[in-house]
Amino acid sequence: MEQKHVMTPEEEDRMIEDAFKDVLDGYLKSNHRKKVEIIERAYRFAKDAHKGIRRRSGEPYILHPIAVAKIASQEIGLGSTSICAALLHDVVEDTDYTVEDIEQHFGKKIAQLVEGLTKISGGIFGDKASLQAENFRKLLLTMSEDIRVVLIKMADRLHNMRTLGSMTPNKQYKIAGETLYIYAPLAHRLGLFAIKTELEDLSFKYEHPVAYARISEQIKESEARRAAVYSDFSEPIKKKLDEMGLTYEAKARLKSVYSIWNKMETKHVPFKEVYDLYAMRIVFECDDPAKEKGICWSIYSAITDIYKLHPDRTRDWISVPKANGYQALHLTVMGPDGNWVEVQIRSRRMDEIAEKGFAAHWKYKIGEGDEESELNVWLRTIKDILDNPEPSAIDFLDTLKLNLFASEIVVFTPKGELLTLPADATVLDVAFELHSELGIHCIAGKVNHKLVPLSHKLKSGDQVEVLTSRSQMPQPEWEAFLVTAKAKTRLRQALRKNRMPMIAKGKMILTEWLEAHDIPDNNAVISKLQGVFHVPNREELCYQLGSEEIALGDFLIKTLKKQADAQQSRSLFSKLLNLNRKSDSKAVAETAENAPKAKINTKETYELNYDENSSNFRIAECCCPIPGDDVMGFIDDNGEVVVHALTCPRAQVLKASFGSRILATRWKTVTAKSLAHVRIEGIDRHGILQELIHMISSHMAIDIRKLNIEAHDEVFDCDLWVRVADAEAVNSLCSKVKTINGVQSASRIQI
Ligand code: MN
Repeated sequence: MEQKHVMTPEEEDRMIEDAFKDVLDGYLKSNHRKKVEIIERAYRFAKDAHKGIRRRSGEPYILHPIAVAKIASQEIGLGSTSICAALLHDVVEDTDYTVEDIEQHFGKKIAQLVEGLTKISGGIFGDKASLQAENFRKLLLTMSEDIRVVLIKMADRLHNMRTLGSMTPNKQYKIAGETLYIYAPLAHRLGLFAIKTELEDLSFKYEHPVAYARISEQIKESEARRAAVYSDFSEPIKKKLDEMGLTYEAKARLKSVYSIWNKMETKHVPFKEVYDLYAMRIVFECDDPAKEKGICWSIYSAITDIYKLHPDRTRDWISVPKANGYQALHLTVMGPDGNWVEVQIRSRRMDEIAEKGFAAHWKYKIGEGDEESELNVWLRTIKDILDNPEPSAIDFLDTLKLNLFASEIVVFTPKGELLTLPADATVLDVAFELHSELGIHCIAGKVNHKLVPLSHKLKSGDQVEVLTSRSQMPQPEWEAFLVTAKAKTRLRQALRKNRMPMIAKGKMILTEWLEAHDIPDNNAVISKLQGVFHVPNREELCYQLGSEEIALGDFLIKTLKKQADAQQSRSLFSKLLNLNRKSDSKAVAETAENAPKAKINTKETYELNYDENSSNFRIAECCCPIPGDDVMGFIDDNGEVVVHALTCPRAQVLKASFGSRILATRWKTVTAKSLAHVRIEGIDRHGILQELIHMISSHMAIDIRKLNIEAHDEVFDCDLWVRVADAEAVNSLCSKVKTINGVQSASRIQI
């Protein structure tokens, strides 16, 4: 934040008091009980505790907890307990007060929330934050005790994102990446759609500043035209709704900058094509929840009297709400200009749930606990996974992320029981979902009474029966088509159980052999063996030894002894160096092995230099960025800088997991050419390919390194690898190619 002039202490204090008054006013307008006294006390306490401390931006620290409390109250809809916890959320971490102090002053509940928030924040914002996945597990564990911890954490993250501008670039990347990877999907899953959208947009703004500015500009330019189209479309509907005597609000629904960009990237379409999809939202007032469904369908009927309905795009989220609580009636109709327009119909209550998620459920709570049951189902799934932790926390995160992102289907058991599963779930997923034993012994399924294989993908509404046989054994290949985290975990468990005797046998063989040849059993020796036999870990090594797929031979003795000696002297040396530190020798030896060779300052933007002879970085093979792309650096185990595209999924994982090894980067001097992959599709005609190749190689003087052309019937597609100077050159190649008569599309393929 920029400061226009330096405030006097009195002015500053007035600003703080005003900010707090804003929180209180908003709270008093809500439906919560009016517990003003404790909120005021929490505020005074926090203000005093953070006294004299400032944020990086220069503003008094207390403004941050106040802002978090405001988001928790006004944007998420939480009550006094959460407002107090939000005001106090950084007190234990940043000041001398303890959780016990909080409990003494504010009672057990608030103290527990503050403790939960302190536990997870230490790792997530701290510099020691290399174990993000582990922290995330903790976050979710805490969450199953009290969901409010996560909701307040979400508010904390949102405010940090809104004020991210004052951070150093590498911190910005780390926080933005983590937000996109963990917090936005979690917000989605909790039904906090408005917050999810803002988090995505803010992350995007810091990761792709140029694209963000360009799309924002394009939105502004097209505003007038959009307004005209919207009013043409909405006027007849509004007239009808007025005649029906409804009180309602109607507005054009805007796509977020991030979602526009996402669509342009994944579908390779220009801005205009994405943005010309219009949507309208109607929110009506209704005091009686029992009447809502009827009103929704009467509005539906009114709209379809005016416009033609798209036959299979009606979505009834009222009869079967989404697992995150979302309710609405969606339909798509043909607008007056011939474009499809989506209309979303919701009551005010449904709208609040859509914007604020489960917090709004509590506001409208009718009866006992039922609204939370869907959420509890999800929490139980997470607990299931947490109870059986995978060896690698990153795996866990990926498994979970799959579930957070997937859209859902609903299927039925023969008894009519309803199961909500991620899209693409298979018969085998259902079997494991019902019971481990059913999964392990599943041989096939019956879907709508027809026999289907285990890997058969289900559709919403399918009725699924699982067929089993005692002689069936679990197969590792099954994992390839399983979709739910639960099924994968259960399958791996079963496979592990079957492997146990082999692993134990292998362990014995290994230990005896090492002892017989006087070789110590240490990291260096084992990783050497893993390298020789191409196995990923010790467990697999033992398994293959036990099942006699591999065998230890005399040819290994010499190299292993050398390895062992090297490790011994190395750890002795580190021990001497670290005599006064607390760390144990094993951890020290490991860090010594993994520490970057050259010291790179992660606080500064790293400049990428590359000519024919040398370069100070390596291009990641997963996403192959070229000069001009938005990229980031990652310091690998050898201290080498690996450059990933910001859009690369692998980069997302790295950002969330190894924050301290992420580098902000800038293309500096790059003279060597890079390889880029372009896909061209079009309608085949005589001579078109000659024309294409001629244009590229002679006309534009671009090197073609590889070319794959396939023609089927009237269409062809062509994969082309070319050597270019930068991203700009590929773009201009694509637009030139598109001018060839018959070419339908030409775009760069990155991942
Ligand atoms: Mn905070």
